Amino acid sequence: AKQKGRNQFRAFTRELNESLYRRLMLRNELQTAMDQRDLQLYYQPFFTQTGQVCGYEALLRWEHPELGWISPQDFIAIAEQTGQIAELGRWVLWQACSDARQLVDARLMPGRVSVNLSPLQFYRGDFLLDLMGVLSETGLQARWLDLELTEGALMRDTQASIETLGRLVELGITTAIDDFGTGFSCLDYLQRLPVTRIKLDKVFIHAIDGHSGNAVVCKSVLALARELGLRVLAEGVETQAQYDYLVNLDCEVFQGFYFARPMPFSMFRELLLAGPEK
Ligand code: C2E
Ligand code: CA
Ligand code: CA
Ligand code: CA
Repeated sequence: AKQKGRNQFRAFTRELNESLYRRLMLRNELQTAMDQRDLQLYYQPFFTQTGQVCGYEALLRWEHPELGWISPQDFIAIAEQTGQIAELGRWVLWQACSDARQLVDARLMPGRVSVNLSPLQFYRGDFLLDLMGVLSETGLQARWLDLELTEGALMRDTQASIETLGRLVELGITTAIDDFGTGFSCLDYLQRLPVTRIKLDKVFIHAIDGHSGNAVVCKSVLALARELGLRVLAEGVETQAQYDYLVNLDCEVFQGFYFARPMPFSMFRELLLAGPEK
């Protein structure tokens, strides 16, 4: 038994070292990627019930020359630990605004670009100043920008969130609560957050074709959002059945593989040029 325990311990420390090693390596590799501009933004459209594109989310992509595609969830977590998120986040915002400006100039009617924000960006003292700097550098009007923050991020410091969101409203920038329903928010705070939209997390959408209680959650969240005067976007819609169910609940905006996967900027531009399918 002793031997077995020791072996397990060795396996455990080896795993730990590997993950630590992987983290350290990824940190260095990420710096190289940022320096060499090896990162890309993909875009995934949002659709109305009539098939019109009414917005689109910028999603970070990193294809490492040897390691292949690395999930944004992994490397963003690392960037948050190392502080690299400041540089990374600013680049994302800048690139997304610059791409959006091109689409607006080409009169492609793409709706707003939605950019994901790390709480570490959002809570920085110079966030708003930095944001306005990016808008003026890229020449994008605030009315074409939307920012996504997770429920958990907004709950970290509700007072600061309320203030910053209020300033964004004044600037004409809309905001969305990402991954809504996963954070057990206090309803009282939710009511006080001046956000425009909630994005109903995909775990609830995927539960629609199953028989769990989560389909009921979809229904309740939509009712709650309406009560609070918020718009709802359903994330991660993958099937016709999910879509039909959501349409029945009067959900208005959809995002997911059923409609379109995240794609490079040039492809997204082509999609807009082609217009809605007839
Ligand atoms: P998120 O903000 O919730 O983004 C939606 C994720 O769902 C994306 O994963 C997208 O590719 C995926 N998705 C879209 N439609 C479907 C669908 O129908 N089915 C399924 N199963 N998935 C779908 P992705 O691109 O891997 O991004 C993962 C997470 O990484 C994002 O989750 C976000 O939290 C983070 N992230 C990505 N880009 C950025 C960024 O520029 N900044 C920050 N701070 N976070 C980012
Ligand atoms: Ca998001
Ligand atoms: Ca989400
Ligand atoms: Ca998520």
